[in-house]
Amino acid sequence: THFGFETVSEEEKGGKVYQVFESVAKKYDVMNDMMSLGIHRVWKDLLLWRMHPFPGTQLLDVAGGTGDIAFRFLNYIQAQHRRKQKRQLRTQQNLSWEEIAQKYQNEEDSLNGSHVVVCDINKEMLKIGRKKACAQGYKTGLAWVLGDAEELPFDDDKFDVYTIAFGIRNVTHIDRALQEAHRVLKPGGRFLCLEFSQVTNPLVSRLYDLYSFQVIPVMGEVIAKDWKSYQYLVESIRQFPAQEEFKEMIEDAGFQKVTYESLTSGIVAIHSGFKL
Ligand code: SAM
Repeated sequence: THFGFETVSEEEKGGKVYQVFESVAKKYDVMNDMMSLGIHRVWKDLLLWRMHPFPGTQLLDVAGGTGDIAFRFLNYIQAQHRRKQKRQLRTQQNLSWEEIAQKYQNEEDSLNGSHVVVCDINKEMLKIGRKKACAQGYKTGLAWVLGDAEELPFDDDKFDVYTIAFGIRNVTHIDRALQEAHRVLKPGGRFLCLEFSQVTNPLVSRLYDLYSFQVIPVMGEVIAKDWKSYQYLVESIRQFPAQEEFKEMIEDAGFQKVTYESLTSGIVAIHSGFKL
């Protein structure tokens, strides 16, 4: 299989990917902002808008790393709840202000039973995620689990939504990860993947290549003292299947109604499918 442009055995790839994320974990968030000029935040927000979770949603975020998708999910549910609260304030005249405030004071209440599990193979990435959760005051509705996307430590038919953001290209056997996603989703559950994809505009493609190959490894060296890891990240992006091919792989895993949306001229794409 591939590891960037290096050909390695399948057994070797997992270990090398582990080393990359172990090495970048501490600088992962700051590097993400710098390399994408902050745009990764918009792509991740968009993933949440596409998901549009309902109260009570059980989400599994695989390759969840430092928790970006999980925190967005919790914020989304809480914001949804606050909007509902305001509507109720207007309509439920029979409740006093104190009663309404009391009812929604409890954070657990405000998540309406929604829950997210962040699953990642790398304990260093999870460690950073946990620290962020503590620092930002997330106490409930969130769990961190060490696990492999290819062999998820969860029962069948457990989650409403499965997300994987910028994770699946790092997995050695993408087909196995997709089958696992299908297994752990409830019937009717949704698979959502945010990943780098194929740039469609030739001009954007040339600029993007220049930026990726000339600038990103240099930034990696200057900021994180780690040229090789960032070169791997760039090269792994180029190796990942284009939109249509990946759509077919998702269908092969048993998902239905598979669609995709290219963002920023195809630099990334969101693929969606349902277990029906
Ligand atoms: N989803 C996060 C985000 O969007 O910021 C993190 C993405 S980071 C580029 C890729 C993550 O995939 C790393 O945290 C890495 O440890 C994880 N990963 C790689 N191979 C994995 C596997 N087989 N199973 C689970 N996680 C894996």
